[in-house]
Amino acid sequence: MGMASILAELPDMWRSALTAHVPDPQGRCWACRDANGVAATWPCLTREVAEEAKYLYEGGLPGTFGGRHAARTAEHRHA
Ligand SMILES: [Zn+2]
Repeated sequence: MGMASILAELPDMWRSALTAHVPDPQGRCWACRDANGVAATWPCLTREVAEEAKYLYEGGLPGTFGGRHAARTAEHRHA
């Protein structure tokens, strides 16, 4: 069982992660900064896991979340 499957059972967790892990104007994650102020490139790993957790929570099948491209396709379907 992956991290996203565990997180899917904890909607408060992935919701707060999706709120915190957003891109700054340089395309880096606001939340993922180390002590030197170096930020992870966005979307960071936490963001991707949180998005997969949301996908599973909303009824997606485990293992069918294909990452960034799949997420974009899903957004188009909703729009
Ligand atoms: Zn992050």
